[in-house]
Amino acid sequence: MLARQSLADRKQAIPKVMIVGSGFVGYFAAQRLQRRLRRIPVQLVMLSATDVFHYSPLLPDVAVGAVDPRSVVVPLSGTLADARIVRGRATRVDLDTRVVYYLDSLGEKARIPYDRLLLAPGSVTPFAGHPGAGRARGRIQDCRRSFVSPGPRA
Ligand SMILES: Cc1cc2nc3c(=O)[nH]c(=O)nc-3n(C[C@H](O)[C@H](O)[C@H](O)COP(=O)(O)OP(=O)(O)OC[C@H]3O[C@@H](n4cnc5c(N)ncnc54)[C@H](O)[C@@H]3O)c2cc1C
Repeated sequence: MLARQSLADRKQAIPKVMIVGSGFVGYFAAQRLQRRLRRIPVQLVMLSATDVFHYSPLLPDVAVGAVDPRSVVVPLSGTLADARIVRGRATRVDLDTRVVYYLDSLGEKARIPYDRLLLAPGSVTPFAGHPGAGRARGRIQDCRRSFVSPGPRA
């Protein structure tokens, strides 16, 4: 009992670094952190709405059939072997208590406490006054959703 307790205490003492988003910023930050923190005990947690990193510059090529969709996605598990991957959409961050609230892949509310946080959920482009541009963006997003599925790589 005592041994188990001290193991739990030790686990609690390991700082938890949390990254929200597995795009260019989140994915490469996680990779670098894994390498640099190899000798330092740190729990790395990646929370992302998707379980892949996708290479967005090639999405138009995927859309026109010039590139295989599977070659523009990299599964997070396997390439971020030291990180705990959590699939979900962050909804709120409480900076005072250091907790990220999110909806898991089943739409259930959940929370993860952290010690250090990197927010990398991407951006939203404002199209005020340019509704045509907004519609084009919608088509790219549709392409992202329908073509880039986390299927197995060939
Ligand atoms: C078609 C296309 C072509 C492009 N070509 C180029 C180019 O040639 N050169 C260039 O420099 N840039 C290019 N860009 C822009 C480039 O893709 C972006 O600058 C880059 O993706 C931004 O990286 P990011 O990590 O900030 O966000 P993203 O790559 O958008 O990643 C955001 C991540 O956060 C996740 N996420 C979002 N919201 C949440 C949430 N609430 N909770 C949890 N996870 C969340 C997403 O699932 C995703 O994993 C292109 C973009 C597109 C769409």
